Amino acid sequence: MKNFLSEEFNIEHLPQWFCPTCKIGILEIGEKSADIEQTAESTALRWHPNYDHEFVEYTINVILKCNNKKCCETVMSVGSGHVDEYHDYSEKGEEIHEYVTLFKPKYFHPSLNIFNVQENVPKNIVNMLNKSFALFFCDSDSCGNRIRACIEFLLDELKIPREFENKKGEVKRASLHSRIENLPQVYEKIKTLLLAIKWLGNVGSHGNEGLTKKETIDAYEILKVVLDIIYKPSDEHIFDLANKINEAKGII
Ligand SMILES: [Zn+2]
Repeated sequence: MKNFLSEEFNIEHLPQWFCPTCKIGILEIGEKSADIEQTAESTALRWHPNYDHEFVEYTINVILKCNNKKCCETVMSVGSGHVDEYHDYSEKGEEIHEYVTLFKPKYFHPSLNIFNVQENVPKNIVNMLNKSFALFFCDSDSCGNRIRACIEFLLDELKIPREFENKKGEVKRASLHSRIENLPQVYEKIKTLLLAIKWLGNVGSHGNEGLTKKETIDAYEILKVVLDIIYKPSDEHIFDLANKINEAKGII
């Protein structure tokens, strides 16, 4: 997941993002598949006496294709860009000086999976997770809020009520914090993890500081562990199979 922390990428050397559809192919940029247009604001600055590459701002549209021949999904990405000056030395000690276009993606459609979930994770949690993935590049606060919503759905799946009755007999909405605290003993291990995601989600909802990609990645890493613990695929059928083979002392 850490490879998603970068804000911008050399348009000539994009990362090896996995295809969100088949999950095994790599997204590749075809020839002439990046539409790069200078913004009106930076174009208007061309008259400026000090105009150079630092004034250039782009709007960029990239068409990516999955390289898995059985999939060939198309993913579109839109974002901004600018020009960066690059200095280095070759192995022969010659100075290398070139300009590179850096791409800062804002949206992907279909959205990239920041991580893959187990097949048996309930659909409503996966749907909310996908909504968070769609927001990952453009709005970290809203993304964090969606990750927090995944926890609410997870608690629904674990049969922790969203409402409670107070001493006056009134039905009130239970806070996420109290729902987490109400988890039975068997889930004690994941309480700490869920509370951490809740706190990060709260910053996204109400905090002045605001979340960054680093915190949303932190929240995803914690959530992945939670989902792996709760929805770990059962290996009982493999033990059953092995027992039957052993009983038959051969094929069954
Ligand atoms: Zn694919």
